[in-house]
Amino acid sequence: MSTKYIPTIGLEIHAELATKSKMFCSCANNPDEEKVNVNICPVCMGQPGTLPVLNKEAIKHVLKAGLAVGGTIADFTEWDRKNYFYPDIPKGYQISQYKYPLVEGGSVLAGGNTVTITRIHLEEDTAQSTHDTHEKSLVNYNRAGVPLMELVTEPVIHDAATAVAFAKELQLLLRYLGVGEANLEKGEMRVEANISVATEEDTVAGKFGTKTEVKNLNSFRAVERAIAYEIARQTKIAEKIALGQTDEKVVQETRGWDEGAGKTFSQRAKESSHDYRYFPEPDIPKMKLREIPEFDIETLRTNLPELPWTLRNRFVKEFMMTEKEAAMFTDTPELSKYFESILAGISGAKPELKTVRLVINYLSSDYVGLLKKQFGEEHFITHISDVSPANFAALINLVVNGKVNSRGAKDTLGLMMKDPSGDPEVIATQNGFIQKNDEGALKGMILEIITANPTVVEDYKKGKVVALQFLIGQGMKMTKGSSNPEMLKKLFLESIK
Ligand code: ADP
Ligand code: ZN
Ligand code: MG
Repeated sequence: MSTKYIPTIGLEIHAELATKSKMFCSCANNPDEEKVNVNICPVCMGQPGTLPVLNKEAIKHVLKAGLAVGGTIADFTEWDRKNYFYPDIPKGYQISQYKYPLVEGGSVLAGGNTVTITRIHLEEDTAQSTHDTHEKSLVNYNRAGVPLMELVTEPVIHDAATAVAFAKELQLLLRYLGVGEANLEKGEMRVEANISVATEEDTVAGKFGTKTEVKNLNSFRAVERAIAYEIARQTKIAEKIALGQTDEKVVQETRGWDEGAGKTFSQRAKESSHDYRYFPEPDIPKMKLREIPEFDIETLRTNLPELPWTLRNRFVKEFMMTEKEAAMFTDTPELSKYFESILAGISGAKPELKTVRLVINYLSSDYVGLLKKQFGEEHFITHISDVSPANFAALINLVVNGKVNSRGAKDTLGLMMKDPSGDPEVIATQNGFIQKNDEGALKGMILEIITANPTVVEDYKKGKVVALQFLIGQGMKMTKGSSNPEMLKKLFLESIK
């Protein structure tokens, strides 16, 4: 009988927060600063006699994230020193939150699974070390003391895909909340995965196996691959143990991820919390959150933006998007905002679904595609408003009013990208994309067709819908395909009445 092993995963995710200044001093928090060691001061360099001052903006960011995931905001919080030596931590300790995190609980739906959150707390980031080839290390302290949010999930994830879906959803949330960019590639978000395997019976009973913690996962692909690798490695050991074929076992340790080899490797034995000799930070006052006006929970809650998952559901319901389209349109706050600004620019109180569909199609299959081709996958989004939403809406209006056909609209869009401030109607006119849909000119032709086909008109009046199609076909023929069938339909209906 073969035993089935179930993996269990819990995530610890760090995210740098986008604030003007660092966590405990007034140095700039600028992840894009290219000069090393310029955003530093005696406080973040850990010089004796200096005092940390709390950054309330960073705390607000964490409270917003906590409210968005439905967590409980602490009444009371304090800060703790986590002591260890490393050149990237100039004080010899990191100021973190141990016993009293800002947020406890909450959950996020990821890939159809509810992932429950243990806690979210705030701490300071370390400096950046570079280990060069001359057996020397370089340290850039610009990052030392940058506000760092840490979110810990419960061990409730059972496959790599859900872990990735959770990390992506969290990234999206932070972006929508405007609290961080959370680019994994830039180290703004860092995922650590705790992984264990146990028999199905034990897993169901909540008896998990010994876990390993995989660090340095700097892309979603790495998260997925590292977890899959670690599950396979641990499962193999468990199977061998069951067969009495090995003395090896899974040891609790920290493992790294070797992207090139596609393997995790042992880094060090896992330290436990008592190794850090946590104790309350004496230089920062303990805090009763309810007594601080900036942290008023109801105000923060009211001011939360529409959250990505709410927005996604609304796009499906309101605009009949497919799940895939809704995911694409909410993939960045910039794109969803751009989309909604276009709709706001379409004439008419609320655009018809048909019109919305046109916007969805021209945006997703044409405009975004063209932008990606020109600026690349990574940078296209910064150019999303190159064609203003108002001009995009004007283009859609040209299509709706039958002034350009779809080919003409695509070509006009291409030209609009080269001349972003240009009026689409002017561009279409100058390039001969405007269809011959002058109602006056068409009306004569319509009457001509009606007079020439009395029986067809009678058929239509008796309820034969295809008869109308025939009449429209005649019109298309007579205009050599240059007229808009919707426009012809409208004119025929008016004339027949
Ligand atoms: P530690 O004290 O070793 O840091 P914690 O209990 O604080 O462990 O949990 C750290 C992370 O590891 C959390 O995300 C948690 O969900 C996860 N975790 C805990 N136990 C296991 C396990 N047996 N298997 C997988 N993940 C686990
Ligand atoms: Zn500083
Ligand atoms: Mg822990």
